[in-house]
Amino acid sequence: MKPIDGRGVAAGIMAEVSATAAELRAAGTDPTLAIVVPTRDEATAWYVRSIERAAAKAGVTSRIEQLTDPSGDDVADLLGKLSADPSVHGIICQTPLPEGVRLDEVAAHIAPRKDVDGANPTSLGRLAAGLPTFAPATAAAVLELLHHEVGDLAGARTVVVGRSTVVGKPAALLLLNEHATVTVCHSRTAELAEVCAQADVLVVAVGRAHFIGAEHIKPGAVVIDVGTNPTADGGLAGDVDPAAAESRAGSCTPVPGGVGPVTTALLLRHTVAAARG
Ligand code: NAP
Repeated sequence: MKPIDGRGVAAGIMAEVSATAAELRAAGTDPTLAIVVPTRDEATAWYVRSIERAAAKAGVTSRIEQLTDPSGDDVADLLGKLSADPSVHGIICQTPLPEGVRLDEVAAHIAPRKDVDGANPTSLGRLAAGLPTFAPATAAAVLELLHHEVGDLAGARTVVVGRSTVVGKPAALLLLNEHATVTVCHSRTAELAEVCAQADVLVVAVGRAHFIGAEHIKPGAVVIDVGTNPTADGGLAGDVDPAAAESRAGSCTPVPGGVGPVTTALLLRHTVAAARG
């Protein structure tokens, strides 16, 4: 099994983002990503710091908007204000949100042209319609990695496990837009292992550590593991059992070091694209 080098793919994207950011600065635009953080959550804080570090490296300004116990209206108002602020080019709203606040409702206040993580339902609708839009960065990272690993996806027999609005569904739509043959599985899928074992390309976004075993993997398959499950020792485990991937897959993304770094790099690529207009 060949590990897929997410960090290497991310480094290539970061070099391209740095070049675009430098061009924008030379032309008088300071590409800026606003990150709205509605709760104080350790995992979120860690992720936000990693975006800040990557942004600084690429010459993108990050602007953190930490809120304390906001209502849904507070979050929506802030997203609306940032959408109207000409000095902000990209906007993301971190989850988790406070209890009772829905991401789709607040994200509807992010202007689609600044919606660099594809969170506004309008962005998902445009993706479904095959229109230009920003896809959620994690779903876009799945495609980016597959382009590197497989190249042309037309006709590829693909199974996506997970149908969340942020990962599974948009990944399936992006794959369809690339003419792959796509099956989407979820918690009610019957005979999951048999369905997965048909896939030449297997994308897993379930959120259960080491859930996918050898019985789910067709020998030689390309496997993209989106899962990031915290472990007792403070590390991260993927959704795919690494021993199963090792024995069956042709190639597989590691966790960490697979989808994660590419996701962050794509958020920044989307931000400089939004700044360029
Ligand atoms: P989610 O919203 O909880 O969705 C999980 C999906 O998995 C659902 O569609 C669910 O089906 C399905 N599922 C749950 N149990 C299943 C089972 N036994 N068999 C088949 N399908 C099952 O999670 P998410 O937000 O998509 O995230 C998935 C994973 O990706 C998590 O580990 C998350 O931390 C990680 N993630 C990583 C990144 C990154 O940048 N690397 C970004 C985002 C998320 P139902 O729809 O039927 O409930």
